[in-house]
Amino acid sequence: MRKEIMIGIGRHIESIEPYKPGKPLEELERELGIKNAIKLASNENPLGPSKKALAALKKGLTGLHRYPEGSGRRLREAIAQKHKLKPEQVILGNGSDEIMDLAAKTFLSPGDEAIMGDLTFAIYPISVTAHHGVSVRVPLRDGRHDPEAMAARFTPKTRLVFICNPNNPTGTMITRRELDRLLSRLPQNVLVIMDEAYAEYADDPEFPNTIENLKRGAPVLVLRTFSKMYGLAGLRIGYGLSTPEVVEAMNRVRLPFNTNSPAQAAALAALSDEKHVAQSLRINREGRRYLSESFAGLGMKFLPSQANFIYVDIGRDGGAVYKQLLRKGVIVRHIEGTWLRVSIGRPAENRRFVKALGEVLKIK
Ligand SMILES: *Cc1c(COP(=O)(O)O)cnc(C)c1O
Repeated sequence: MRKEIMIGIGRHIESIEPYKPGKPLEELERELGIKNAIKLASNENPLGPSKKALAALKKGLTGLHRYPEGSGRRLREAIAQKHKLKPEQVILGNGSDEIMDLAAKTFLSPGDEAIMGDLTFAIYPISVTAHHGVSVRVPLRDGRHDPEAMAARFTPKTRLVFICNPNNPTGTMITRRELDRLLSRLPQNVLVIMDEAYAEYADDPEFPNTIENLKRGAPVLVLRTFSKMYGLAGLRIGYGLSTPEVVEAMNRVRLPFNTNSPAQAAALAALSDEKHVAQSLRINREGRRYLSESFAGLGMKFLPSQANFIYVDIGRDGGAVYKQLLRKGVIVRHIEGTWLRVSIGRPAENRRFVKALGEVLKIK
């Protein structure tokens, strides 16, 4: 029966493991019969969306019988203006996930190689494999991308390099100098995809300004999203910045109405809500400090985070602790081994997580 259904699936697809999203709050609450579970598992903005975005969303609803403006012209213009680029350098996606996939679809021929970290965003290898490419996975070094080791893997088949900066799940960053060196060693016809879903949170002065790299002519595709700092994960909208040629090529295979009109309207309003951004940054910075101090107090190793989550070594089976935390109504993410990834929440959520973790670790 099962075998029959499988007939017709591309052989390259068989090896793909489906992406595992964080457990939804409602699901856990239903399972436990409780109402007050907390989710620190998908790096969402704990403050929610900007009020301005919500107002724009409501206002746009009367036009729902119309197809969206396919390329999202108004939003692209606003994004271009914000970054001092041309609108032809901006492409919108149904989340920045879609733009990664579009890049793999556009730039890979069968057998072409995409270089990426071995502990990074799980979507890259899925998209690469789905579009007949080969993922070349380069070990991180001390939880950080290792651009030297990545450059050592360039071959004539290399077409893409994925750099998640700050990296998910480790929260670490590569520096301006490291990136510049990698770019200086880049062979012809290779595009570097800088996935900057968390760049708005980064405050290290060495964090690279990749839009400046782009303006100086570097072959980069910078990916940003409205799902994290802007609090619009449910609407599915993100954007890519690159040369007009790269954007034009991706537009050839972009489905015509990939981003919806309410999402475009809300994102446009969110972009200019500086107060919401400042508030989100502040709560994140405070939470990052609180969680770091708490982990240190519990004697746990964690990686320095430039993002809105922390990767922490709890020193024992992460899968078991993850499940025990679930029973206390706390959802985090178990990535591998003894490490958990915890999103930074509101102060009360962070305290509840630390308390639950302490209790779980004593139970053993
Ligand atoms: C959350 C996240 C994204 C953004 O995904 P969207 O599709 O824009 O919601 C991109 N890259 C990484 C590494 C992420 O963690």
